[in-house]
Amino acid sequence: MLNKKLLTDTIEKFGLTVSDEVFLRLDKYAEMLVETNKSFNLTAITDADGVTVKHFADCLSLFGFVDIPENVSLIDVGTGAGFPGLVIKLFRPDIDVTFLDSTKKKLGFIENVLNETGMTGETVHLRAEEAAVLPKYREKFDFATARAVAALPVLSEYCLPFVKIGGSFISMKSADIAEEIKAADGAIKTLGGETESDNLFSLVENMPRRIIVIKKKSQTLTRYPRKTAQIAKKPLK
Ligand code: SAM
Repeated sequence: MLNKKLLTDTIEKFGLTVSDEVFLRLDKYAEMLVETNKSFNLTAITDADGVTVKHFADCLSLFGFVDIPENVSLIDVGTGAGFPGLVIKLFRPDIDVTFLDSTKKKLGFIENVLNETGMTGETVHLRAEEAAVLPKYREKFDFATARAVAALPVLSEYCLPFVKIGGSFISMKSADIAEEIKAADGAIKTLGGETESDNLFSLVENMPRRIIVIKKKSQTLTRYPRKTAQIAKKPLK
């Protein structure tokens, strides 16, 4: 299913390679994604090159910008069909990945891929703002990731409460979000974070991307995250 040469060429500029073993796992995932998508909408992208670049290379690019030590814990918030969380797991099985989404069916798909590829990982069927107040998940992760879930001020309130002090929240975005980043400044500080790096790059020609790494500096006050309606109505400033 995946275009191996295109994947290899695209991630090479991030200093990344995939072994045959990793490629087989990623390819199995891609095949299941496209097959399952016929009966249950998981992605709008279904052609081999599109899936290769816009899903797989895009998610792998994270490893070009963030150093993720061995055996850390990571929660992928709003993981959907598993992006970037499942790509991270299949590329780096040592990472303990938790997959969170409010849609149960998507998590069922992720469980199927984990089973088929011999991997393990917890799936959490809750909204981020519900899970982040539970002691089991609150400030328990070395990393939180999110791609295409919400604007950064809202996303920071979803994600930063999951991160331990000293850990990082990695937000994967398209490049054209200068205003959004500015608007998130206050929210990030309020939630105990500090922007560590803001990486602008091209995935391939005419596909600008941005990976923002936010370090957790201090504990998030217990009043955050607020209830869903409040977050939506009054994003933190
Ligand atoms: N991250 C995936 C990707 O990049 O392909 C999925 C993106 S999809 C546009 C957004 C996903 O976030 C959906 O699966 C939705 O159910 C989930 N989502 C949105 N808000 C959420 C919240 N507050 N808590 C948990 N999941 C959420």
